[in-house]
Amino acid sequence: MADIQIYNTLSRKKELFKPLKAGEVSMYHCGPTVYDYAHIGNLRSYVFADILRRTFEYNFYKVNQVINITDVGHLVSDSDEGEDKMTKALKRENKTLSLESMRDIGTFYFGKFVDDLKQLNIKQPNIFPRATDHVADSIEVIQVLEKKAYAYVTSDGVYFDTSKFPAYGKLGNIPIENQKEGTRVSINKEKRNPSDFALWKFDAKLGWQSPWGNGFPGWHIECSAMSRKYLGQPFDIHTGGIDHIPVHHNNEIAQSECAYGTLLANYWMHNAFITMNNGKMAKSAGGFITLEALTEESISPLGYRYWLLTAHYRSPVNFSFEAVRGAQNALIRLMTTVSSYPEGGSPIQAYIERFGAYINDDLDMPQAVALAWELIKDSSSSDADKRATLVQFDRVFGLKLDSVPRPPAEHIPAEIQVLAEAREEARKEKDWEKADALRMEIESRGFTINDTPDGIVVKEI
Ligand code: AMP
Ligand code: ZN
Repeated sequence: MADIQIYNTLSRKKELFKPLKAGEVSMYHCGPTVYDYAHIGNLRSYVFADILRRTFEYNFYKVNQVINITDVGHLVSDSDEGEDKMTKALKRENKTLSLESMRDIGTFYFGKFVDDLKQLNIKQPNIFPRATDHVADSIEVIQVLEKKAYAYVTSDGVYFDTSKFPAYGKLGNIPIENQKEGTRVSINKEKRNPSDFALWKFDAKLGWQSPWGNGFPGWHIECSAMSRKYLGQPFDIHTGGIDHIPVHHNNEIAQSECAYGTLLANYWMHNAFITMNNGKMAKSAGGFITLEALTEESISPLGYRYWLLTAHYRSPVNFSFEAVRGAQNALIRLMTTVSSYPEGGSPIQAYIERFGAYINDDLDMPQAVALAWELIKDSSSSDADKRATLVQFDRVFGLKLDSVPRPPAEHIPAEIQVLAEAREEARKEKDWEKADALRMEIESRGFTINDTPDGIVVKEI
């Protein structure tokens, strides 16, 4: 098996990946809080996870992959104050405050999330465990922590005593002073240390029974409980966005390592943020862009995926419609070129070797994409061999380069082509409402779309 180097946030350097079990890799990706649609910044985390998975599969590893679904307990801020995000969603959507309606909201946005992953051609993980299905597992971890005197009870919940874990903050080398409360939130006087965090929050009216009283598991505990349940402890790789390093991931580490006395994960990998106007992409800042909003701007999910591949996962990138549209045009050129090449060739070894070296060097996708273009321009290779090579690259890119049956007709603008393809996808998924909306959109731009036995035909009106 080829060597794979990955950047480990824990050691702050690139390391040779050594699996716990030969030929296998276990990975856990912090999943979405399903209180709203995912924005395209969130989705970068899962495109990154997918590229990581595909890179291991390309290297003949068997992958065991978990993406959790947070449908309870994630407060609006990283401190333990404020509202739970799911409760906030119930209020926003005028639903009754009950565990059932909370579960329903979670199910709705979970479905939308899975839809987004499909559109981005992200492979499904082995399991999407939901926090609400694992409350008993979370309680079990808290009980172990309590038995070992890492947990204490206050009037509003059960807390983890960070002073008992000397390595607290080791991920990203976060100074403990940075974890202090008081700047943004009120100080909880019952906490022994400012960096202590909730394992369980009491709620007399809503919630689950526990040995300490009715309430909710804290947000961090679910990841400790579910990763251990499905992957064991330690497992190989834990990922998430960089915002999770200081609090969420250090808290996961503290809980799991104190409860069970071994590392939680051997490697920690984090993707940088997508920014907008060089600021945070967040609903409150008005920069909440969903995949659907991209489609409305004639940008297909695969166009967005291609744009992500042109930046390294550890580089922050600033989103603009123009930039992603430019990437989409490049993708259309790439697809058109591949589909114009004949089948029946063989992968070109020199290119395959270079491709392997790039992806195995901490997922250097920008270099790998540049290599695809270099190959297209290489006049010393046959078109059939180029096609076979690019199709092999696409096992990692996941851009569906080999599933373009026809090049787009010359006189049909790229954005109409993209809309027509999105409509085809919607029809395949039997999402008639979306298919009709896309047809109307195509017509409003001066084109007709007809289904014929040979496929769809798009014409100018
Ligand atoms: P959440 O639903 O808030 O738990 O976030 C889901 C994932 O998206 C986490 O891994 C976050 O770190 C990640 N994330 C949130 N915002 C961004 C962003 N603007 N760019 C990249 N990743 C993000
Ligand atoms: Zn997590």
